[in-house]
Amino acid sequence: MTTDPVSLAGSQDDAARELAAFPADTPIDSFSRLGLAEPLARAVAEMGYESMTPIQAQAIPVVLTGRDVMGAAQTGTGKTAAFSLPLLQRLLKHENTSTSPARHPVRALVLLPTRELADQVAQQVKLYAKYTSLRSAVVFGGMDMKPQTLELKRGVEVLVATPGRLLDHIEAKNAVLNQVEYVVLDEADRMLDIGFLPDLQRILSYLPKQRTTLLFSATFSPEIKRLANSYLNDPVTIEVARPNETASTVEQHFYSVLDDDKRRALRQIVRQRGITQAFVFVNSKLGCARLARSLERDGLRTTALHGDKSQDERLKALAAFKAGEVDLLVATDVAARGLDIKDVPAVFNFDVPFNAEDYVHRIGRTGRAGASGLAVTFVSATDGRLVADLEKLLKKKVELEAVEFEEDRPRGRINDGRRTWRDHGETGDPRDLLDAPRDRRPPRPAPAPRDPFFEKPYEPPTVTEPPPWESAARSPASRVSANIKTKRKLPALFRSS
Ligand code: AMP
Repeated sequence: MTTDPVSLAGSQDDAARELAAFPADTPIDSFSRLGLAEPLARAVAEMGYESMTPIQAQAIPVVLTGRDVMGAAQTGTGKTAAFSLPLLQRLLKHENTSTSPARHPVRALVLLPTRELADQVAQQVKLYAKYTSLRSAVVFGGMDMKPQTLELKRGVEVLVATPGRLLDHIEAKNAVLNQVEYVVLDEADRMLDIGFLPDLQRILSYLPKQRTTLLFSATFSPEIKRLANSYLNDPVTIEVARPNETASTVEQHFYSVLDDDKRRALRQIVRQRGITQAFVFVNSKLGCARLARSLERDGLRTTALHGDKSQDERLKALAAFKAGEVDLLVATDVAARGLDIKDVPAVFNFDVPFNAEDYVHRIGRTGRAGASGLAVTFVSATDGRLVADLEKLLKKKVELEAVEFEEDRPRGRINDGRRTWRDHGETGDPRDLLDAPRDRRPPRPAPAPRDPFFEKPYEPPTVTEPPPWESAARSPASRVSANIKTKRKLPALFRSS
């Protein structure tokens, strides 16, 4: 596809014509290339964004022309702005300050798989639209329908929703979708995984045929391609690299440590480094609960985030962590996915992740926005294969360090005859393991079980009010992703060969 805005200059489309009108020396990733309306440009400037991310630079010009888009991009790439900004720009022609609901029909619909994602996207849309008169709202399950109904009845131009709850509102005649011009299927692969296809099909059947459809998905599986074939019209395909790089502001350490010593090592590093808050990632739900309990017994204010916790407990755990009432949040990968908690001073990988890509996601929680972060990974005797996977992904050799316990043990303790991960290879190089005969390799653990909670769009209502952090103002710095290269704020991401 072409992403050069100049090539759109011949289009009859107003937005495309505006796009071509920028000074020749404007950097390729500058927002000023877009010719965004002043209220939107002001909102972007206020967010502190200095340049467009790759998905933004590629998608925004295309969406401004009204074409359908099939985008391969994950959370953290800046894709929310990539669809929200052009969509808001195109909707500005409908902007009005009338109090009549009829003057504010739903013009854009953004569908997401989970309440957390819906909430995060809705918050971003509100920020981008704050200097316009365009209204936005979010509806998702597990919450009282009434406040959502009141908001819908007042009229909103941009509606962010999870599919099930949206259908409830459609059935209750709270949402009328016959004037929708834009529909965004965000995290489409996850929506299909959860089994939302029939709901999506129903919702799409309520929309006008003449519309722009944008589909974003982490992968283009055959199912996603089928969905795109059925509902997208001659889409432009945009793919951006998976965010597999780690921010160079993150100080990464890998410690060779016995399973039994991991907790002690964690306590010691927290103490020595004066760490105030950290995420501790584990590979299993059971391990998560157990570890949180023992760290709590050790005197660290700890809470666990995993699938066996009730929704209320999870909301409380997150709120407490955000409020600084909890020092350590022990979490499984799936429980932590999609949660907008960033800028944590340190991340511990209590277990080496089963999937190397999860390492990048885990440590992406720290070292954001130019702040330095610490990522500590404990590597035990059976982790050789996982570390080798990690090295392949990071294109970098992992240097293992020993933990020097300062408490009761003599220095020679780590060579006490028990096997450590290094013992698996003659040279200590994890690749030795790969060269070993197949039957001598440690078995690869099964993939982490998916935590159903965050995959689920709605659950029985347990809270009637949004948790306190949802309304808390956020600093612009916390909105900058580790996967995003800004000019000054974030140092270059490393990609060593
Ligand atoms: P998303 O992938 O849309 O969830 O965005 C991830 C994070 O990146 C959000 O916190 C955004 O506020 C932030 N972000 C989006 N666009 C940019 C940009 N151009 N420069 C810096 N940060 C951005």
